[in-house]
Amino acid sequence: MNDPSKLPVAKPPSAKPPLGLVPVLQLLQIPEKCLTILVKDHLPGLETLMPVQGEIQLHHKGTFLEVSAQATAIVTLGCDRCLNQYNHRIALDTTEIIWLEEAEDLGPGDALEREIEFEDLVERISPRGSFDPAQWLYEQLCLAIPPQQLCDLDCDGILVETEVAQPSEPAIDHRWAALAQLKQQLPS
Ligand SMILES: [Zn+2]
Repeated sequence: MNDPSKLPVAKPPSAKPPLGLVPVLQLLQIPEKCLTILVKDHLPGLETLMPVQGEIQLHHKGTFLEVSAQATAIVTLGCDRCLNQYNHRIALDTTEIIWLEEAEDLGPGDALEREIEFEDLVERISPRGSFDPAQWLYEQLCLAIPPQQLCDLDCDGILVETEVAQPSEPAIDHRWAALAQLKQQLPS
């Protein structure tokens, strides 16, 4: 238990290049079966102003992986009301369970069952497979993008066009104007 060679905690747990595939079996060989991956990368498929920053913790718990992430990213979104582009900061803080199961464990006749499980969005990978931090983080960030995109909660929409659409002259009925003139001429 008290092996002195394992005491210094200063040794960074992540000796891997950032966001490379992590073989699940490799997690079993590191102390605490826990790996921290520092993230400072642009993710394929996700346009961000700056590299996504944060970290992912992978914890092998026998039958499943516990994956946590704290990360921030700034994405450019289009406002639903005024159509302008604006920057949105995503602050991700999430934990997910990924079951370690062979896909072949499901019987060949269980296509329907398999479909239902996929609909449930149960994440699973093979115990002998690899975890893809970049793909996982990409999915988490996409889920964190708000479904309604507004540059501002009080966004008034497309202002310029509604102003242009309004008539520039007040509508005056000349017959009433003549009547008003006549009224002024009458002795009070
Ligand atoms: Zn807007």
